[in-house]
Order: sequence, then structure tokens, then C-alpha cells
Amino acid sequence: IGDSADIDREVKSVCPFCGVGCQVSLKVKDERVVFVEGIDGPANEGRLCVKGRFGFDYIHHPHRLTKPLIRREDAPEKGLNVDPANPLTHFREATWDEALDAAANGLAKLRETRGGKSVAGFGSAKCTNEEAYLFQKLIRQGFGHNNVDHCTRLCHASSVAALLENVGSGAVTATFNEIENADVAIVIGCNPAENHPVAATYFKQFAKRGGKLIVLDPRGQALSRFATQMVQFRPGADVSLLNAMMQVIVEEKLYDESYIARMTENWEAEKAHLAAFTPEKMADICGIAPDEIRAAARTFAQGNAGMIFWGMGVSQHIHGTDNSRCLISLALMTGNVGKPGAGLHPLRGQNNVQGASDAGLIPMFLPDYQSVTDDGVRSAFTDVWNSGDFSADKGLTVTEIVDDIHAGNTRGMYILGENPAMSDPDVSHAREALAKLEHLVVQDIFLTETANFADVILPASAFAEKAGTVTNTNRQVQMGRQAMQPPGDAKEDWWIEVELAKRLGLDWTYTHPQEVFAEMAINMRSLDNITWERLESQNAVTYPSLSHDDPGQAIVFADAFPRDNERAKFTPADVIAPDESPDAEYPMILTTGRQLEHWHTGSMTRRSKVLDSVEPEANCSINPKTLKYLGVEAGGMVRLTTRRGEITVMARADRTVAKDMVFLPFAFVEAAANILTNPAIDPYGKIPEFKFAAVRVEKAS
Ligand code: SF4
Repeated sequence: IGDSADIDREVKSVCPFCGVGCQVSLKVKDERVVFVEGIDGPANEGRLCVKGRFGFDYIHHPHRLTKPLIRREDAPEKGLNVDPANPLTHFREATWDEALDAAANGLAKLRETRGGKSVAGFGSAKCTNEEAYLFQKLIRQGFGHNNVDHCTRLCHASSVAALLENVGSGAVTATFNEIENADVAIVIGCNPAENHPVAATYFKQFAKRGGKLIVLDPRGQALSRFATQMVQFRPGADVSLLNAMMQVIVEEKLYDESYIARMTENWEAEKAHLAAFTPEKMADICGIAPDEIRAAARTFAQGNAGMIFWGMGVSQHIHGTDNSRCLISLALMTGNVGKPGAGLHPLRGQNNVQGASDAGLIPMFLPDYQSVTDDGVRSAFTDVWNSGDFSADKGLTVTEIVDDIHAGNTRGMYILGENPAMSDPDVSHAREALAKLEHLVVQDIFLTETANFADVILPASAFAEKAGTVTNTNRQVQMGRQAMQPPGDAKEDWWIEVELAKRLGLDWTYTHPQEVFAEMAINMRSLDNITWERLESQNAVTYPSLSHDDPGQAIVFADAFPRDNERAKFTPADVIAPDESPDAEYPMILTTGRQLEHWHTGSMTRRSKVLDSVEPEANCSINPKTLKYLGVEAGGMVRLTTRRGEITVMARADRTVAKDMVFLPFAFVEAAANILTNPAIDPYGKIPEFKFAAVRVEKAS
């Protein structure tokens, strides 16, 4: 907290952490952000959480990359062995021309000798929409294929797959603020008080004014104190629980017959499928009493307007798409889409994961989820790009690209702002793949774990150091403004992408992100009526916006769904067991996630003084009874072992965690959670099963 009298200027922008997309005023003095205040954005109305208010000092951390770096010829073998405070043991400083030439030449050489498919790209949900658009364009136009992806694959890809399949659109059907008009809400598989804290304030207010809040989660959480009902079910039993709830709604005829008849298809198949899922049959699987299932079903179905919020507890399973299918069916059968206070809302994780996905940073879709397999779609883009065609084959996803490196096909990568050396499942396998690459270009603000493996490192800009738009979980496209220049020789990300593209032979002439936004709008109907100038003056517009005066539609699909027959679809879901079950050797369940203070792989928040002081040490959460059984004091060390590897980490006593479960945050490199996680993926969303692995827990000496 500072004093506005002491600042040189204030700049309106957007918080760079989570998908809530709180608008902020950055207070700048001597080219540093000295404090931050929340302003009246549509998603936050002046509110901020601890990350948004106190987490900005990472921008000025001494570890910022300020010069382009090229791997030294006498560098030690590639590995996780670079000191971020002293990278010159492995890299030498270079000019921009030298570094860009080295980066482009290495990728171009692979393209010529091995073909375009030997180079893949990971873009970033932390970058702007314009930078995400340029990144996917660079891979598609420059290398002729679709092997380009980003962290949506580790986050909500299964939710998007189910939404596209059954609703016809991958985004939320209503903003989270619509909970103000609801009288019942389900929060499942997410912990908003830690991961979407400002959204959680709206949920708490809803409960305080009498709204019925149902929290469904294997782990207890702060929001449960506000809940009408907290159902702590067994990890992995989501489909059993949700099908049983829907069976109750069918049996007790609590469904909305006229909505189903008017707006949906495949109801009879769904209804028949649900008959086997009685609460009595599902109770043991879910680890709860049948009456708990009945109560939750009745409360939700008897509301006038209900919303469903979910997070990665739903999506990060090999049955993540089925979990989301069930939530969609539950909303449809109760008529809870397309009216005030109703809707489906997967809470998006990173600040721009919605926008990066919308911008086409995914292997199967061009911008606005237009299929790469559609000849007409591809030619609409190549017309605008003034270039030849590219592959009609869906590209490889994040984890498939890692496997493709091991198979010897992908040999070079361009990675912008992603950290697969920390974020990928079975991360030892991913690190081995990164070390195998013949040419790796990493663009980032810090020497991340992934940058340890780079051949060329391009120093980039923090969010406050550039202009560009981002899209939050609410479909709100918001304007981020440049508060200061990047430090040293670091550059804005879009500039680096353009310079690299030119050296790869592409005819790119952009001089400002505004020109990129204008190009995006040509083939993206979601951006109709949204212009850069409008965002400059209004800060945010929700898509779809029906006219230049329309602030955007908070609720969509009141009369029709964007599917061929304009109806949403019920897709019945069967119970699929997790990929590996606890057994005598690995008797407990490991689940991973985030904490309030630390963001994703920790590259930003662990360099924020306040946030890292509050949560400085790698930790896991275990039920106190389990700790007692293991002979471990709270705060003592435990060894966690799975079929992939082992780590040693401090154990925190936490009654909200079930006795057979361990919760492990993934922000700490010294006890990297993903050494342990299972790379098995959902067949539709291709998302790994981060939320369930069999683990052995022992006292560590
Ligand atoms: Fe930033 Fe999310 Fe916190 Fe808002 S809720 S201040 S967007 S981290």
C-alpha cells in the first residue's frame, strides 16, 4: 500500500495472475511499480486478492533476463543445472541480431533438413491475445503444421472438449458475476478462495444473502464454511456422484421438461443411461451416504436459477471430459443455461488462457475454434496471411510433443512463456526430452527451469511492460497497458515474435499489437464490434458484443445453441476408473494443485517478496490422523514415492484432506510435484491425470 501523492503516474491494466481478470491501477515511480490498487473492472469492481495487490514486485526482481543469451560451446551438458543468478556459466550474452539469427537459423536448418514437423511450439496463456495469435501463426505459416499448444492442455482442455461437443462453444455460458441473480450454485472440483479469490468473494456474498451453495470436492476448503451443503466425496468418483444426482432428478421428476423439449437432444438416451446410477448403488463408490446425494440433487434442481462452477478437480482426470459432460447434462436437465442467474462456468486458470485458446493456440483449432481440418477455414486464414496452405491434420498436444521428441521426430522447439520442465506430468520424462532437443529457443522473463535447457534465450517483457489485450474467464476482452519499458535489452514479446518470423522468411510487417488485433478480428466472429479503440476507451468488452454500444452479453444461448440443429446435447457418461489405483505398494492418493500465494510453477510468485515470505517452503497437506499413524509431527518431513519418482517435502497437518490422500502444490522446484504425477491422458481433451496418482508416504529422516 502506498501513497498516490508519491507516484510519477498511474496506468490502468489487468492483473497478470489468474483468469478472474481483475483490473488494476499500477502506481509507477522511477520506472518501478511501487503499489497497486484495484479499479472498477467488470470482474472485480475494485477488489483484489493478495497476489494482485502484493505480487507485482516480481517485475523488478534481480533475476530478470535483460540480455539475449546463447549457450556457450563449452557449457556443461544440458540439465537442470543453471544458477538463475549467474547464467553466464552456461550462456554468453549476445546482441539481439546475433541471438535472433541464432534462434531462427537453428529452427530453419531443422525445417530444411528434417521437414517442418521437426519443429514444434509451446505458446503462453500469460501473453496477450495478439502474442498468442502471432505464435500460432508463426508455427502454422512458418513450419506448415499444427504442432502448437499451450497450458490449456494441462488445465481445462477436457472442459472445452465437452462444451464444444454438447453446447457448441468452449467458453462459459454466463459470467461468474451472474451468481448475483442465482438462488442455487454448485462449486465442484475447485477451490476458488485460493485459486480465484476475487470470484470467491461473489460466491460468499451469494451465500450470505441466502443463496444455496453446494460445494462438492474430495478436499475441504474455506468456501465450505459458507455452504448449504459440503459433500466430500472420494477422489475420482465425480461421474458416479453426478450421475447419481441426475438419477434422483429423473426419479423425482425434478427436471425441466419444457426446456429439455425446446432446447436439447438425446434426452431419452441420457435418462435411460442414468437409471443404473441410484444413490444407493453409488454411495460406496463416492464414500458418502445416499441421502447426501439426494439432498444435493434436490437443492440444485428445485432452485429457480442455478449456476455450476468447476475447476481442475473436474478436468484433470483421464475421465475429465466425462466429468464435464455430466455437469453440462445437469445444467441442461434443470433448464439452467441461457437465463439470468444460470449457467455453466469452468473457472479458467491463467490470466489469458481463455484468450490464448480463442486466438488459436491449440493444435486442432484455428482462432475461434475453427477446425484445422476444414479446407474453407484454412483458406480463409491463408488468404488473410497471404501465404500457402498448411497441414489439414490436427497437431500434437503438449504431452504428445514431449513423446514425439523421445521418438526422434520433433527435434527443435520454440517455447514462449511456458515452463514444461516444471508443469508437465512425469516431469523427469519431459526434462529428458528437453535435453534431447537439437535446438531450443526459449522466450521468457526469467531463466526458468525450461530455459536451463535452451540453446538461445530471448529476454521478454512482464505484463506491465507491454500493451495488449487479454480475455478472462468471463469472456471479457480487456486492455492491458504498458506502464514502463522492459528492463535492459529485454523486449516486448510481440516484437520478438515478429523479428523471429522475419528471419524465418515470413513477410510480417506489424509495428504495433493494434495491427495484430485488427487482423485477428477479420476471421474471429467473437471479436465482432470489439475494436482496439473501443477497448482503449472502455477497458473491457464482453464477447459476444451485438453492437458498438453493447457492453457484451453476460449470458448466452437463451434461444439457441451454436450447433447445427441449435440444440444442446446430452452425452451420457460411464464410470471410468482412474488410470492407477492405490495398492499395497502405493496405498494413498496424490492430488496436486495451487496455493493462494503461489502461482503455477512459481516463476513469478516465488520472486515476489511478500508472497514468498508467506509461503516460503515446499509443503504438502496430510490429515493429522494419517501423520500420527506415520509417526510424523506436523512440520516434519515426508517422502512421497510414486511409480515415476520420489520427493521429500515438509508435511502440514490439514483436517480438510481425507485420510488416504496427500495434497501437493506444484510451485516448488526443490520438491517438484510433477516428478510424481501420472502422464496418462483423457482421450478427448488430452489432459493429464494430475488429480489422481497412487502414492506411498513415509516418514523421512
Ligand atoms: Fe489477480 Fe486473480 Fe487475484 Fe484478481 S483474483 S487479483 S486476477 S490473482
